[in-house]
Amino acid sequence: MSRPPVDSQPAPPRATEVELQALVDATPGVSLLIDLEGKIVCANIQSATHFGIEMDRLIGTDVYSLFDEATAAGRRAISRKAALQRKPVVLEDERNGMYFRHSLVPAFDPDGIVRRVAVFAENITERKKAEMALQASEEQYRFLAENTADTVWRLDNRMCFTFVNGAYTESTGFSRDEIMGRSVMEFFTPEGREIVANMMRIRKANEAAGVTNASLRFEVPHIRKSGDPFWVEINSNPIYDASGAIVAFNGIMRDVHERKQYQKKLEDTNQQLQEQLQENVALHAMLTEQTLRDPLTGLHNRRYLEETLPRELSRAKRVGYPMALVMVDLDHFKRVNDTYGHPTGDAVLKAMASILLHGAREGDIICRYGGEEFLVALPNMTIENALARAKAWQSTLSTTSIKHGAFNIQTTLSAGISAFPNNGADVDTLLRLADDALYRAKENGRNRVEFEVATTLPAQRC
Ligand code: GH3
Ligand code: MG
Ligand code: MG
Repeated sequence: MSRPPVDSQPAPPRATEVELQALVDATPGVSLLIDLEGKIVCANIQSATHFGIEMDRLIGTDVYSLFDEATAAGRRAISRKAALQRKPVVLEDERNGMYFRHSLVPAFDPDGIVRRVAVFAENITERKKAEMALQASEEQYRFLAENTADTVWRLDNRMCFTFVNGAYTESTGFSRDEIMGRSVMEFFTPEGREIVANMMRIRKANEAAGVTNASLRFEVPHIRKSGDPFWVEINSNPIYDASGAIVAFNGIMRDVHERKQYQKKLEDTNQQLQEQLQENVALHAMLTEQTLRDPLTGLHNRRYLEETLPRELSRAKRVGYPMALVMVDLDHFKRVNDTYGHPTGDAVLKAMASILLHGAREGDIICRYGGEEFLVALPNMTIENALARAKAWQSTLSTTSIKHGAFNIQTTLSAGISAFPNNGADVDTLLRLADDALYRAKENGRNRVEFEVATTLPAQRC
């Protein structure tokens, strides 16, 4: 045995034989103390059990005789190594499918000479098998990851890349060196970062609800090395350790840029179509409305009346309320045109329209029936009330001075009234009778209101 080398390094702590003997006894695994030839000097009870030899016989036995030749040679070599190097040697080996970790610790005499070596053997089969299974699954993962057309990556718990496959570098243009250790967040657009942050919130909510390991699927804009964004679909799931803390994230990413572009175009086109459709509907409604309105006065026209009146009369019959028709015609209107000009005539027509509209109820139908003729249908109004309304218009017009340019026009109207149910029950009859009454008003001197004589009211001129 050589003397300890003299150097400037502080000497490592050295165990004496007595100390190691105590340790051998106290160690739960197989522990022995052997001399430099391999003779067992001291052994713990686990050793006797392990080798199947009684303690009395075990002490003094050549430890190498307990192994086959090859194993014995290996063990002898490391025990020599520990003694020669004067420091502990650790070795892991396999025997009959069992894995052991051997720690060989030299025992120092008080004078610094190594005469004994303590052997601590630990059965590490379980741990070794778990390690090997992990390594196999890791290799399998890498094999699959490298050979799939999809992009595969792994992040640590700070979301920094720890692995990317070839497809990732190909599709993004980044080399592995440019990616490893960097946060995945750096590779998304600002919009993408928000999407991912939102996904993280969802994952946290899942975890709070007791749902762990849930795979999250989302679409997000990624950035290529060129700076161009491209849409990817990501499937990601967290990996937890035994304490439930996240240690990594696995992800699969697929380029969906073309699909996304197409989808966006489709959405834009749809949106445009929707807008166009709405415009068309509005235009159609406007055109329909225009065909039913008189452009000069803004009142409904005769066509509208012809469409509406039968409906209104049917409703009056069905619901059981009266309806009056008032036909109004401006007196000597031709003279107005002739005297003041057509535009002034137009202004008078507009003034008449606003008199009719003033105080109208929601359901009243006020139409420009012809040139200077108006027809007002008054649903749910008795002939008495219609008479009062018509007389109010007559009075308003006759006392209104219609201003147009330099002219102030004063004119009058004549009106004829018929009513359902008093005078008839169909549109044609009621219109004809209103027209007859109007004719009588003209005949009787104009600026007056007449109603059909065959009514329930006493026949009288107003
Ligand atoms: P009466 O008292 O008998 O009803 O006489 P009148 O002159 O009012 O009746 P007539 O039917 O002879 O004349 C109606 C006039 O209304 C003829 C026409 O030029 C005029 N007129 C029709 N439509 C319009 C219009 O849109 N604007 C103007 N300014 N005049 C119109
Ligand atoms: Mg007239
Ligand atoms: Mg007329």
